[in-house]
Amino acid sequence: MDKDYDLIVIGAGPAGYVAALRGAQLGFKVGCIDNWLDPDGKPSLGGTCLNAGCIPSKALLDTSHHFSALRTEYADQGILVDGLRIDVDTMLARKRSVVTALTQGIATLFKAQDIDWLKGHGQLLGTGRVGFTAHDRKTPKELTADNVILAPGSTPIALDSAPLDGEYVVDSTGALEFTDVPKRLAVIGAGVIGLELGSVWNRLGSEVTLLEAQPDFLPIADQALARTALKTYTNQGLQIKLGTRIKSAKLSGKSVRTVFEDASGEQQERYDRVIVAVGRRPNTTGLFTNESDLLLDERGCIHVDDFCRTNLPGVWAIGDAVRGPMLAHKGEEEGVMVVERIAGQNSATEPDLIPSVIYTTPEFAWVGPTEQKLKQAGIPYRSGRFPFAANGRARAQGDVEGEVKLLAHAETDRLLAAHVFGPSASELVQQAVIAMSMEATSEDLARTIFAHPTLSESVHEAALAVDGRALHMAGKPKRG
Ligand code: FAD
Ligand code: NAD
Repeated sequence: MDKDYDLIVIGAGPAGYVAALRGAQLGFKVGCIDNWLDPDGKPSLGGTCLNAGCIPSKALLDTSHHFSALRTEYADQGILVDGLRIDVDTMLARKRSVVTALTQGIATLFKAQDIDWLKGHGQLLGTGRVGFTAHDRKTPKELTADNVILAPGSTPIALDSAPLDGEYVVDSTGALEFTDVPKRLAVIGAGVIGLELGSVWNRLGSEVTLLEAQPDFLPIADQALARTALKTYTNQGLQIKLGTRIKSAKLSGKSVRTVFEDASGEQQERYDRVIVAVGRRPNTTGLFTNESDLLLDERGCIHVDDFCRTNLPGVWAIGDAVRGPMLAHKGEEEGVMVVERIAGQNSATEPDLIPSVIYTTPEFAWVGPTEQKLKQAGIPYRSGRFPFAANGRARAQGDVEGEVKLLAHAETDRLLAAHVFGPSASELVQQAVIAMSMEATSEDLARTIFAHPTLSESVHEAALAVDGRALHMAGKPKRG
């Protein structure tokens, strides 16, 4: 019997919709099931990333950056603004229009590629079999396909001590929708979401406290740069309390009574709003039947091998729901790889070359291991550092905080990692990703011409610094 589809994808976030698009490019008949509904109850493609993650958060980061820069940064350039204020409704309306333009863009791409957008819930029944319940139906219909890709994404981790109430204690989705600027805001978790969304509301005028359980700040990042970042964020007004245990955060009257414990003992504070941002977990509830025999790993992720194959033949899983960092671009690459492998190509992903970015001002970005990790692994390396304070373009634009740090293998000189805290770090680190994916050495970068004056010259100088010959930095000259 003919199958309904060559390929069914469950989930239309960046992992799933990119898999669907690549599948259509390769000539497959594709159905993509997604159950996301926008605040008006309308189906919307793009998953967390476009609807409640990467895109809306960056829209608010952008607006709040302009606002804060006008308030605090431009007086020394002679730009003086009187009567500056933020219209939160307009800011939110712009954010929604950015989201709508992009989600509708994916719908247009689906149409152009003849991908069936199946609006509703999908459930894996077994190899090649999927139950689909449309939003307006109660009973599922069974669909068949040669291959099924599971891309259900992730959902915020909840805390029993800080139950969400949809208005005062919220997750990241709620924090993108505050209709006014909270006077006092706490964020539980000083990870990526805590820093990005904490920055948004801090720049707009909130007094923001981040309550972080771990004793170290951003342990996944380079610790020297993380110390600089901590100072910078603190100077910007983010109060970051490390080693804090939340005992409770509950609405009492019109504010949230929050009890937590840190090195100085138990403390109580009242906040107007609390954001819970303590990580995300794979979204596997209702995704498969017990009879399907799909295997999860010990962390609740869908178990996959290096090529995103699950334990079931013809069933693949990608994106936030499988091991690895929960990042949009990581899921997209997995989507492309899986579909190309289905088409018989020998594609693979490069887990060591996934860049991470925290979109604060300045940005914090990196690719590859930290110095700490290299030391632990006993890998010999040389490091080259260059501060933005010594870069002409950074000076001209008034963004002098931070540095570029490159790490190269001490024997082969192969580039191993780049860590950047500073202006346009997200774009600068990409230069290292490109170089590393082409197996470049630090000398390759050092011998490359960089336009002047650009921030990129800091990457060049850091590459020269690996060999002790940075030009625009004082230090003992290297002979030879
Ligand atoms: P998702 O985007 O979560 O999409 C999964 C889709 O599947 C959803 O639409 C979901 O409703 C649907 N679905 C789930 N189960 C079913 C089912 N059974 N049937 C039908 N449909 C189903 N990452 C970055 O790389 N850069 C950033 O700047 C960034 N910023 C972020 C900011 C915030 C506030 C948040 C919360 C996340 C951010 N992320 C960012 C992370 C990024 O959003 C995720 O890594 C990415 O969305 C994961 O993609 P995905 O396709 O795996 O899943
Ligand atoms: P995260 O893992 O980045 O940070 C969570 C923080 O909460 C950690 O520092 C953790 O130690 C802390 N924490 C955990 N339990 C706690 C508790 N009980 N009390 C206090 N602190 C606690 O997770 P997130 O910020 O929620 O983001 C979720 C995911 O979304 C991340 O994996 C991230 O990769 C992704 N994301 C990416 C971007 C980006 O790429 N710019 C932006 C936002 C989110």
